[in-house]
Amino acid sequence: VNDRTTSNERVIGLDRAHVFHSWSAQAGLAPLVITGGSGCRAWDDEGTAYLDFSSQLINLNIGHQHPVVTAAIAEQAAVLTTVAPAAANLTRGEAAKRIVARAPERFEKVFFTNGGADANENAIRLARLHTGRDKVLSTYRSYHGNTGAAIVATGDWRRMPNEFARGHVHFWGPYLYRSEFWATTPEQESERALQHLERLIQGEGPATIAAVLLETVPGTAGILLPPPGYLAGVRELCDRYGIVLILDEVMAGFGRTGRWFAFDGYDVVPDLITFAKGVNSGYVPVGGVVISDEIAAEFDDVVFPGGLTYSGHPLAMASIVAAQDAMANEGIVDNAARIGADVLGPALHELAQKHPIIGEVRGEGVFWAIELVADRQTREPLAPAVMARIKSELMARRLLAITQDNRIHVVPPCIVTDDEVAEAVVVYDEVLGLLA
Ligand code: PLP
Repeated sequence: VNDRTTSNERVIGLDRAHVFHSWSAQAGLAPLVITGGSGCRAWDDEGTAYLDFSSQLINLNIGHQHPVVTAAIAEQAAVLTTVAPAAANLTRGEAAKRIVARAPERFEKVFFTNGGADANENAIRLARLHTGRDKVLSTYRSYHGNTGAAIVATGDWRRMPNEFARGHVHFWGPYLYRSEFWATTPEQESERALQHLERLIQGEGPATIAAVLLETVPGTAGILLPPPGYLAGVRELCDRYGIVLILDEVMAGFGRTGRWFAFDGYDVVPDLITFAKGVNSGYVPVGGVVISDEIAAEFDDVVFPGGLTYSGHPLAMASIVAAQDAMANEGIVDNAARIGADVLGPALHELAQKHPIIGEVRGEGVFWAIELVADRQTREPLAPAVMARIKSELMARRLLAITQDNRIHVVPPCIVTDDEVAEAVVVYDEVLGLLA
């Protein structure tokens, strides 16, 4: 019944027979087989190993099979593998304590969810209850998850077949390389994007707006570092109009930018923080909302109308405690910062000098985008067929890579070494050279 013999052929056969995949037409799929991993490497059943510069789905911040985290999960499994959300449990409290320790002072409470989408779902719910208002403003260049409100808050194409939730309004965030505001400097981009947002707030009616929901650093949309003053300006607008500011740290949080929270690098404190992915590197599905004292206090005597059977699941909690401790003890977040500043960033900028196909390189920590263009002058995005070729050439060289629209997202685990960066850069260089 439980035949464990494995081969790439068997894995693919079962997958194609029975597994229905995300975001795909099912017929033409040829998924990569991954059966094992360690650190920044993952491999299949036939000895083919890949250097993982995708961090799987940009969540594997601590790398594959960190022994402290896998041991903590096994240890918790031996003690108590599940517990109702209403119970008090030590591992849950320890996990929440570690997360709020990374948040600004006025955050003491965490509501745990199963992943990032339902974290945003519950943050939106909290903002609506807090303000008694309905609308949620978010940017077109965003992804917030694939559930009711989260997918409609999302700006990219994935929203369009799913627009069943109400009260969502979108706006343009800053992106100097492809400015919607005819800006030529970061300061201009910031100022004009803020003016656009304020006009949108006024046009929609401030008294109808519950929240502004933003990825601190929009990830899937292109690793768009906010220009100076933008997030502080959004905070000011939220204060002026009584709007809750939700920062989505699902992809950017817990090390990816080289900081614990991405917003630590900007002059902004949100009202609600959502997280998932990097908090435990996805070893067990989990996410959550870190809630400011002011919003949390509102539910001291009023029922919070939300909950999940697996909120604060003990295996997820054990993985958070261990991952957070290992990241701190081993300097993993500092490593991401150093790699970005001293190794990966400079190497990618060097590639941009060499390959005219690169329009822009941007990022920080282990969170980088190489934006590819058909023409540097017009900035015409590289065609999808060429991007598909790039992806397959990278994979053929055993580099697990993420391509998104006309970009390569360079997103290794936070533990990546100088040598692994050098190895990957040789591959990017070689593949971009094929297109010259
Ligand atoms: N928010 C951001 C910024 C994300 O990048 C993602 C997933 O990629 C999500 C939310 C959704 O998280 P999940 O897939 O865990 O529901």
